[in-house]
Amino acid sequence: MVRNIMKDLLFLRQKAEPAAKEDIAIAENLLDTLRFHREHCVGMAANMIGERKAIMAIADGNRLTAMLNPEVVKKSPRTYKTSEGCLSIPGEREVERHDWIEIKYRDMDWHKEKRKFTGFEAEIVQHELDHLEGKLV
Ligand SMILES: [Zn+2]
Repeated sequence: MVRNIMKDLLFLRQKAEPAAKEDIAIAENLLDTLRFHREHCVGMAANMIGERKAIMAIADGNRLTAMLNPEVVKKSPRTYKTSEGCLSIPGEREVERHDWIEIKYRDMDWHKEKRKFTGFEAEIVQHELDHLEGKLV
């Protein structure tokens, strides 16, 4: 189900709670909503659809991948500066990102996964991790 985009900054500044297995339904909504906005959006966090749960979805080539309870395992020592936009806030802002990031998470079958992201995908993952911490870019 495609959900409305949350634009309330007070809500978006709250940290997400850990997701439970039942929250896979929220992850499905998040994937539907990202698919709907895919032309101008590459990733979404659950708080962007009004759910304060640690769930994010990213565009991964032609596929969309949802990750529940993502946690950083490792990130590159090297960082770079870039500017990012967000569906929830107008405009673009400058941020510092790591070259790559490795995270562990639960997939849509609630299996434990670990994956390293590089390049643009790593940037998307870091943007969505910020959302889950209540940090807005
Ligand atoms: Zn955003």
